[in-house]
Amino acid sequence: MNFKEYKPSTDLLKDRVILITGVGDGIGRAAAINFALHGATVVLHGRNLSKLEIIYDEIEALGAPQPAILPLQLSTASEHDYEVLFDTLEQQFGRLDGILHNAGILGERVPLEDYPTDVWDDVLNVNLRAPFVLTQALLPLLKRSDCASVLFTSSGVGREARPLWGAYSISKIGVEALSKIFAEELKSEENLRFNCINPGGTRTAMRAKAYPNEDPLTLPIPEDIMPAYLYLIGPDSKGITGQSFDAQSK
Ligand code: NDP
Repeated sequence: MNFKEYKPSTDLLKDRVILITGVGDGIGRAAAINFALHGATVVLHGRNLSKLEIIYDEIEALGAPQPAILPLQLSTASEHDYEVLFDTLEQQFGRLDGILHNAGILGERVPLEDYPTDVWDDVLNVNLRAPFVLTQALLPLLKRSDCASVLFTSSGVGREARPLWGAYSISKIGVEALSKIFAEELKSEENLRFNCINPGGTRTAMRAKAYPNEDPLTLPIPEDIMPAYLYLIGPDSKGITGQSFDAQSK
């Protein structure tokens, strides 16, 4: 699908409550601002409260619906943290119309033979365990929506195992499987859908760390790939589930 041709209506996400993880920087930050500008009440998740407050102020200044702030360190989040999260969202909104699982870390670019196990645990916790536990914990709220979208973030190295990408590649392959299994197991719930998006090379801090010799100016900025995110998180993609998309496909 060529998302460049997709023209979302300005009120695409009006009255929708959407949680976005990792909004402190990069693609998550752009998604939070874009979803809010299309009418969504965005729940801003991140591990750094001061970064969340900056985005909160920015969204308020744009005149978009008032967002909510949700600080949580995904590396170490406990079952209790997820219960508190559920209770907070239930009390404040009573339902959830979407989750964009965007937060991620790169880990090390070394052979598995030398891969540090503490980094492995961190990458798997943030990139794979957190999207699973968060989705599982919030399913009762998603089921109360008339049309809810859960969007997982994959990668080119999530489509095939890539040497020297270690835990990152493995976590993203796991995310692709996670999305498909949720979609298959819950296909009788017609108001729910689960899909994966691969942003493709995008000008962010993570990309610069992964490709230090690349000229960042040759890459699209997060804003450029937002049509795909809006399409997949909003009601125009109703009925599509268990699929994997490339945000930059032509
Ligand atoms: P960034 O590094 O710019 O942003 C990642 C975000 O995740 C940050 O806001 C970061 O928080 C947050 N985060 C990281 N660890 C944790 C944690 N333990 N708990 C809570 N939040 C955390 O990356 P991108 O914007 O580039 O990446 C976004 C997604 O897209 C990722 O899932 C990535 O794997 C994927 N992707 C990106 C590509 C690209 O070219 N940029 C290509 C393919 C996939 P903080 O601000 O505090 O650091």
